[in-house]
Amino acid sequence: MIVVKVGGSAGIDYDAVCADLAARWKAGEKLILVHGGSGETNRVAEALGHPPRFVTSPSGYTSRFTDRQTLEIFEMVYCGKINKGIVERLQRLGVNAVGLSGLDGRIFEGRHKDSVRAVENGKTKVLRGDHTGTVEKVNTGLIELLLGAGYLPVLTPPASSYEGVAINVDGDRAAAALAVALKAEALLLLSNVPGLLRDYPDEASLIRQIPADDVESYLEFAQDRMKKKVLGAAEAVAGGVKRVIFGDARAGQPITAALDGAGTVVS
Ligand code: ADP
Repeated sequence: MIVVKVGGSAGIDYDAVCADLAARWKAGEKLILVHGGSGETNRVAEALGHPPRFVTSPSGYTSRFTDRQTLEIFEMVYCGKINKGIVERLQRLGVNAVGLSGLDGRIFEGRHKDSVRAVENGKTKVLRGDHTGTVEKVNTGLIELLLGAGYLPVLTPPASSYEGVAINVDGDRAAAALAVALKAEALLLLSNVPGLLRDYPDEASLIRQIPADDVESYLEFAQDRMKKKVLGAAEAVAGGVKRVIFGDARAGQPITAALDGAGTVVS
């Protein structure tokens, strides 16, 4: 089993990802796709007059402050436009894909964090009314049912809280939890960069290899959202996934290239 997570940043070539996925699926490989949608969510939120608000925690992690209205816009884009766009591409390529969010069948479950600590203008504030959380549990029953019946699952945040409330969760870490739960051989985290760059945005500074027992020390090279990928990779390898690869989804055969060792390989 290979878990492929494709991000939502500008430049990602979903056609290339889907074509590569379809070819491998038809050759008999078991794969699951997890996707993001942050770039498009920002555009739609602006257009709807409810622009995104990003907050930085005291430890330096950036996340989207998700009030109820933001959550609804997030669902429109992630579960609607992006998810169905990917499912449609795969269906056109002859793959019987099924798109689900983490809420469906409680595939992704976790704790709802209603308040978040945010550093703004040098001061730490507590913001309430946040619909965010972290995936703590992956309920694989529905996924196994689908895979067993020949469907390719296409998954996306949000997750479900233990109380059944929709929560915005990080897609990279959700994919990592999924890869651990499914005992996947590999987790691919595909985005619009060649991999983890030592000196971002210099693409020539690509880090080719990260030892599995030392992932956290590479956090220092990752800024903002890239940190979540490094954290997800650390969680995946700690959970028994043999290889995590940060790969490029901007062109070509992104899945095949990553599995062949392009990008940053954590193993
Ligand atoms: P996605 O939505 O595609 O999953 P994210 O926006 O969450 O992607 O994270 C990828 C982004 O992280 C890149 O587009 C880049 O701007 C940023 N980034 C920060 N630091 C680094 C780094 N050291 N190497 C590569 N990308 C980095």
